[in-house]
Amino acid sequence: MALIVHKYGGTSMGSTERIRSVAQRVAKWVRAGHQLVVVPSAMSGETNRLLGLAKELMPDATLANSEAALRELDAVAATGEQVSVGLLALALQAQGIPAVSYGGWQVPVATDSAYTKARIASIDDQRVRADLAAGKVVVITGFQGIDPQGNVTTLGRGGSDTSAVAVAAALKADECLIYTDVDGVYTTDPRIVPEARRLSTISFEEMLEMASLGSKVLQIRSVEFAGKYKVPVRVLSSFTPWDIPIAEEASSGTLITFEEDEKMEQAVVAGIAFNRDEAKISVIGVPDRPGIAHQILGPVADANIDIDVIIQNVSHEGRTDFSFTVHRNDYARTMNVLETQVIPSTGAAKLIGDTKICKVSIVGIGMRSHVGVASKMFRTLSEEGINIQMITTSEIKTSVVIDEKYMELAVRALHKAFGLDAGAVVAD
Ligand code: ADP
Ligand code: ASP
Ligand code: MG
Repeated sequence: MALIVHKYGGTSMGSTERIRSVAQRVAKWVRAGHQLVVVPSAMSGETNRLLGLAKELMPDATLANSEAALRELDAVAATGEQVSVGLLALALQAQGIPAVSYGGWQVPVATDSAYTKARIASIDDQRVRADLAAGKVVVITGFQGIDPQGNVTTLGRGGSDTSAVAVAAALKADECLIYTDVDGVYTTDPRIVPEARRLSTISFEEMLEMASLGSKVLQIRSVEFAGKYKVPVRVLSSFTPWDIPIAEEASSGTLITFEEDEKMEQAVVAGIAFNRDEAKISVIGVPDRPGIAHQILGPVADANIDIDVIIQNVSHEGRTDFSFTVHRNDYARTMNVLETQVIPSTGAAKLIGDTKICKVSIVGIGMRSHVGVASKMFRTLSEEGINIQMITTSEIKTSVVIDEKYMELAVRALHKAFGLDAGAVVAD
């Protein structure tokens, strides 16, 4: 008997028909003698619908600056998962499987108070363990928690992955199975590149980079949790027939591995990630003197805005240009901070904003021991006539910022150039 956590995403929970199929799958695991905790997302489209309703009543910019409003936004957004857990517990009971549902506040899943992006502080396992011991399946909301003051919080978009892995860590579960609408982690998003290949394993470090650079198949914090608590995580499809043999199901999809030598598909580049959620801002003609980066970015950080890629140009006659990227949702606020605080304090000449950019990244732990990987990336993009606006590198990734309209072309060209297309012979 094993203790297993299942997570089902929005599409997997997308209709009562799908929920019944989830219940049948879970029931199969229970009948095989396992203890099950299930963490579902809201039904597909539901979180967007709820956030849309809230934004009809208060514009984005006002919402983002008001703690009181963000509190209510979370109260609204969290209801999607509330519905899912109840429906899934009902569907399980209808299969003759004892089941009980809990919201994050009932477990409780304790978080900090950062509405819309709360972090899990701890999960109390007592109630869940008692139910499991009593032979019940426990169904816990993804995405939501409760702060020290008793307010409902949410963990950021895609946060049900994190709820599931955190629950698995708290219960020291044997495995956390993330069921989704693709059958594993691919070399890149298979919806963009049909030639993408499924990886049967991916190293934790590569998965962390892929998630942080935009591969939405797993929320980055779920990968961080998996690494910190060494939770075995597997990504697999909820669209296989529910009654396939457990042994087959349990070895399908993609397993995240923690040991480098376990890596079977050793390629220099393991995958390609992309992100359309950023915007680029250039502060033109700032005085080139010590402390200027802090003078520009300090007020942005004080406004609680995360900065990603940064570049500063060489100076001309004591002046330079400074560019950086922020999340597109933070673009208007960042421009406002710069206009009202940074331009007056630095005497910068002007601001240029560009929301039509994207970031494309190649990721692979094999890059550590191979030179020339970045230059091959730049050559490939230049052969396609794609201009690179910004570059950042780390040991196991290189990212470029380019015009958004070239994103798919860039991803496809890089996928091919690095030998990732299905059937390709990997050669350099
Ligand atoms: P869920 O609702 O199950 O959480 P998500 O939509 O959040 O599902 O994540 C699954 C989606 O992630 C897939 O449908 C796919 O389009 C996208 N995706 C992006 N990058 C990858 C990748 N490298 N491998 C697999 N899927 C990816
Ligand atoms: N329902 C939430 C969202 O759409 C959380 C999740 O699906 O993981 O972002
Ligand atoms: Mg998701």
